[in-house]
Amino acid sequence: MNEKTLLKIAKDFGSPVYVYDAEKIEFQYKRLTKAFSKVKHLRLNYAVKALSNISVLKLFNKLGSGIDTVSIQEVQLGIKAGFKPEDIIFTPNGVSLEEIEKAAKLGVQINIDNLSILEQFGTKHPNIPVCIRINPHVMAGGNTNISVGHIDSKFGISIHQIPLLLRIVENTKMNINGIHMHTGSDILDIDVFLYASEILFETAKNFKSLEFIDFGSGFKVPYKAGDIETNIEELGEKLSQRFNEFCKEYGKELTLAFEPGKFLVSEAGVFLAKVNVVKQTTSTIFAQIDSGFNHLIRPMLYGSQHDIENISNPKGRERFYSVVGYICETDTFANNRRIAEINEGDILSFKNAGAYCYSMASNYNSRYRPAEVLLYKGKAHLIRKREDFEDILHNQVILNF
Ligand SMILES: *Cc1c(COP(=O)(O)O)cnc(C)c1O
Repeated sequence: MNEKTLLKIAKDFGSPVYVYDAEKIEFQYKRLTKAFSKVKHLRLNYAVKALSNISVLKLFNKLGSGIDTVSIQEVQLGIKAGFKPEDIIFTPNGVSLEEIEKAAKLGVQINIDNLSILEQFGTKHPNIPVCIRINPHVMAGGNTNISVGHIDSKFGISIHQIPLLLRIVENTKMNINGIHMHTGSDILDIDVFLYASEILFETAKNFKSLEFIDFGSGFKVPYKAGDIETNIEELGEKLSQRFNEFCKEYGKELTLAFEPGKFLVSEAGVFLAKVNVVKQTTSTIFAQIDSGFNHLIRPMLYGSQHDIENISNPKGRERFYSVVGYICETDTFANNRRIAEINEGDILSFKNAGAYCYSMASNYNSRYRPAEVLLYKGKAHLIRKREDFEDILHNQVILNF
């Protein structure tokens, strides 16, 4: 997506606006598929929560992807987008038995991540196949916000509880057709991932009627220069070989499943916002944009670094800026960042804005959520309108005193 295209989108659709490049999404999907081409049955289930616009879901459906969902609403969105129930896996955490039953009733693959619900579900519905989410207790990265496989994590059934798990499965006579892990949002190195996979294989041997093994996600994408990126090709090579060996041992061609979110959509997205004010204080030059953490919370929530370019003045002399928002709270996007000289009215482009950006946006400060645009075959399509005042009032019950 070049500067000219993006500037035109900001002009035509207004700012702030999220822009997604369908070609990049397709490229990432095919890259991952190719990396695992030696596996006979591969299943990619796009993690809807990363970017849940229904047109994006339809694009994934067209690519042949399945989807990974974490709420009954995401399941419903997926069905609305045209996914067949069997192409949907429901991988929630800590939801009620009723919600799981609802998804099961729709024919969606259920994934259960705690023993209490497993026992209740198995007792009531022994014939509905269930996948179980294992916690292999492998640390992925150092940030506990994104490491979900460690010992104190709320996710998954601990591998140390396998004996009780097996007892429940035996007593209820339920059918376990898949096992799953999702160790966190950032895989630091392939060896860690392969190590966790061995634990999954070991666990798999306990179940006789598996159809698939789901390795979750955690593929790293670079956000800033020098960031580690998961070497998908190397992982594909090594894990495929090990997976094929395991299938031989197991005596059945199982499906290898993944559920990437960030890898598929992060780099396909940019966020465009306009500079309202350039404000120089005694210590800092602030560029204040027409947005805030209500639209892009990752820098404030996770300390994520999104590269920022001034697409209105890309060749301008570089200066140091703190890029902040307009909401009445500290909402820093970047501190002391080198950016081509910024003038009021310029459009800034934030990279890696495809995953966990729009989907985490809110109406804080009673601001409208931005528009979303999908670039598809050279044309910019509006795929979500900017909100308006009606949306702010929606569902509010106005009392007359
Ligand atoms: C969020 C999530 C994913 C996607 O993780 P990414 O880091 O975006 O690839 C996959 N599986 C489950 C169960 C998730 O909750």
